[in-house]
Amino acid sequence: MSQKIRTRIAPSPTGDPHVGTAYMALFNYIYAKHYEGDFILRIEDTDQNRSRPEYEKAIIDSLKWAKLKWDEGVDVGGEHGPYRQSERTEIYRKYCNILLEKKLAYKCFATQDELKAMRAVLAQKGQRGGYDGRYRNLSAEEIAEKESQGVPYVVRLKVPLSGECTFIDGARGQITTPCADIDDQILMKSDGFPTYHLANVVDDHLMKINVVIRGEEWIASTPKHILLYEAFGWEPPKFIHMPLLLDTNGKKLSKRKNPTSIEYYKDQGYLQNAFVNFMTLMGYSMPGDKELYSLDEIIKSFDIKRIGTSGAIFDRKKLNWINQHYIINDVPVTNLWNEIQQWGLNEEFMQQLMPLAHTRIKTFADFFQLFDFFFLDYPTLSEKILCPKNLTTEASAMIIQTLIWILEEKQDWSRFGLESASQDLAKLFSVNHKKIIIPIIYAVLTGKLQGPPLYDSFQLLKKHRVRARLLHALQYLDSLSNKKLTILKAAYDKKECAHLIKVKAIS
Ligand code: GLU
Repeated sequence: MSQKIRTRIAPSPTGDPHVGTAYMALFNYIYAKHYEGDFILRIEDTDQNRSRPEYEKAIIDSLKWAKLKWDEGVDVGGEHGPYRQSERTEIYRKYCNILLEKKLAYKCFATQDELKAMRAVLAQKGQRGGYDGRYRNLSAEEIAEKESQGVPYVVRLKVPLSGECTFIDGARGQITTPCADIDDQILMKSDGFPTYHLANVVDDHLMKINVVIRGEEWIASTPKHILLYEAFGWEPPKFIHMPLLLDTNGKKLSKRKNPTSIEYYKDQGYLQNAFVNFMTLMGYSMPGDKELYSLDEIIKSFDIKRIGTSGAIFDRKKLNWINQHYIINDVPVTNLWNEIQQWGLNEEFMQQLMPLAHTRIKTFADFFQLFDFFFLDYPTLSEKILCPKNLTTEASAMIIQTLIWILEEKQDWSRFGLESASQDLAKLFSVNHKKIIIPIIYAVLTGKLQGPPLYDSFQLLKKHRVRARLLHALQYLDSLSNKKLTILKAAYDKKECAHLIKVKAIS
């Protein structure tokens, strides 16, 4: 009897739920359901510093919004739990010790300085990798001595010094990597926590995952994983690497330039089915190049041979086109008003808006004129409003870019967050808060010179739509060269940006 198919999505809760996570989750789900198998949600929170519970919650909510249902996972349980890696530390220690006992792994006592020197030497020789294996063969006495001195160590895998590591990628065929190109990877960090590689392999094995579908960016890690499976004597799963999501310029889809959070697409009013349809078009083509289909249809007809190997273009225009089809075909006209209300004109939102409207409208007919920007994809921009006091477009773009950095650093997207970020900006660039900073932010968010209070409007627009508008304004201004961006970042890191804006321009 053939084995039941088990796939998983294993996101790290270190940021907003990325569209790439929905993309991968959908293909793992489709694959499992095509073969009547199970789909699992595992949270990979081994990065203690960057993982946050609120991101985990956002990931779960967003994946549910993207029509995904898992058979086992953090929130639903299952017989292979716990499904959160931070609750499995003892398991990883146990498996790491097995490799240490079998002498397939070793304790490495290299200091940061040693590692830096190694990297420099290897780079000079034109060799790849960053570790020369110097602690591979310490004697038991040498190890005991270091340990008794309390020297911190990591555990590394003894990667074979010669030979090759080969695996068959379900979409790309055979991939072979010389072992000499693979570093002795770290399995356990000096704080006793596992690395992604160890935890990922141990969990996939213990959770009986037999098919791993993940992004192309993990191909370089797969040989390391195969070697780990070999060291444990376990059978590796089948690996399928999906093409990277690219923007319309053919570059890796990046949050620096595009809205990449699933939550943005939800807040912006896209229909769930349209979003799912669009995401499954990435890296896959249905027979006859059919572009509009349901999740059930792709599950039924799924064929691994139809996965592409070149990049998948994430094109908003295409998404809009698909969404329009779904509005026409999926939303009966009798339900349209209800859907629109639920999206942006719902009771809760309107009640929040009313205090802003109360003293600002002369007639009810003023309402939409004043608040139109809440209900738009993007407000209409012009250089005139984005560049107050004859500021150059470059100077304005620098201020907008820096605002994004400050907001991201502080992660406070409330009205108070913007208030303090805007004050910081004025100090940083040494410009007038009221005359320069506020008008720029106002223009970016609302497309207007004046209207309802800025900080409240910011809070009501919410993080993802605000962020998208800031990026949109940067694109509109198109004035920050890569060189200037690097200069700005360096200045921002030093908290000295004033010299970047000409005083003459801001008088
Ligand atoms: N935690 C990894 C991620 O964030 C999982 C990669 C994999 O699927 O192995 O994408």
